[in-house]
Amino acid sequence: MKVFDKAQEILNKKSKPKEQKHSFHLRGFLTCAVCGHAVTAEIQKGHTYYHCAKPKCESRKPYAREDRLDEQVVGVLKGFSIDDAELGLLLRATREQKDAERGDNKTIIQSINRRLLENGKKLENLIDACIKETDETMIDFYEKKRSELLDERASLQRQLSPSNANDERIFEQMEGFFKFANSAVQVYSDGSIEEKQRVLSLTSSNLLLKNGLIASYQVKEPFSILASGSNLEEFENLLGEKDSNPHIRSQSPLSYR
Ligand SMILES: [Zn+2]
Repeated sequence: MKVFDKAQEILNKKSKPKEQKHSFHLRGFLTCAVCGHAVTAEIQKGHTYYHCAKPKCESRKPYAREDRLDEQVVGVLKGFSIDDAELGLLLRATREQKDAERGDNKTIIQSINRRLLENGKKLENLIDACIKETDETMIDFYEKKRSELLDERASLQRQLSPSNANDERIFEQMEGFFKFANSAVQVYSDGSIEEKQRVLSLTSSNLLLKNGLIASYQVKEPFSILASGSNLEEFENLLGEKDSNPHIRSQSPLSYR
């Protein structure tokens, strides 16, 4: 048993990450396009370079200069921006569309309200009857009825409120999303290492390094919609499917060549 403990101890020690002297924001995001190995980084003559971590990989050289890779990343992030006027228009159009849908829901809402009114009357009558009642069995029966009516009431109220709250939340999310997309270039360029990495992990995946450059780059949804040239129709489709599972679409990597 002791041997086992010792072995475990060594294994655990080995798996602990080494303290990093420098923080390279692209490390962990890049993979070698040729061998699939992780990409490591080092500083030489004042510049940060990235290269395949596998010693004999043919794609280890040339080393990739960080500022060149950053230029590539910024090029992709620039594609996400949408100006304030466009943003205003998009939000207004979506809101108007939602208002129209709400109009269609008006009859449903009216019927729910009617049922709520009836439910309230039944509850009142029940309470009146219960007050006058002396028979224990009948009182039990009324109690049971009352709890049924209260359940129905809660369910009706639930049907009334969440759709509006949901819409509001979606608008807030949309606004937040566009604001984030708009600021991505600035945050990536001027932000801390953590902020740069946050931008990368939210927007990008599968960054493949080859010949000293990012050879392929996948933009995560929903940013991929912005990157594909502000295709608003696609964005609305995505919004339209908000209630079901967000659809998974295959993302075509942006090529740099
Ligand atoms: Zn490699």
